[in-house]
Amino acid sequence: MTLETVPKDLRGLRACLVCSLIKSFDQFENEGCDNCDEFLRMKNNHDNVYDCTSSNFDGMISLMSPEDSWVAKWQRINRFCRGVYAISVSGRLPNSIIREMKSRGIVYKSRDTSQR
Ligand SMILES: [Zn+2]
Repeated sequence: MTLETVPKDLRGLRACLVCSLIKSFDQFENEGCDNCDEFLRMKNNHDNVYDCTSSNFDGMISLMSPEDSWVAKWQRINRFCRGVYAISVSGRLPNSIIREMKSRGIVYKSRDTSQR
């Protein structure tokens, strides 16, 4: 695990709309999302960070050993890298990115569970 994955600042935190990873805006802009940057391309792309992450999220989970964690399985984050994850993320991914994910065979499921 790289310490880069852990939020550096408690202010200005955002959660990825696809995998719910929490980092600061700067970290997303500097390093992209550790799980999804292949298709979200947030690295060095200010606009994509705004579009693909949300500052409106609930709950935090520290994920240390994703493979063994029932919480990780429940949250569908057991295949992701270690880090801090949100339990629910509000916001909607732009349609163009949902399409792009689809073309890669990835089904986008909203991380927003606050309404249900
Ligand atoms: Zn992500």
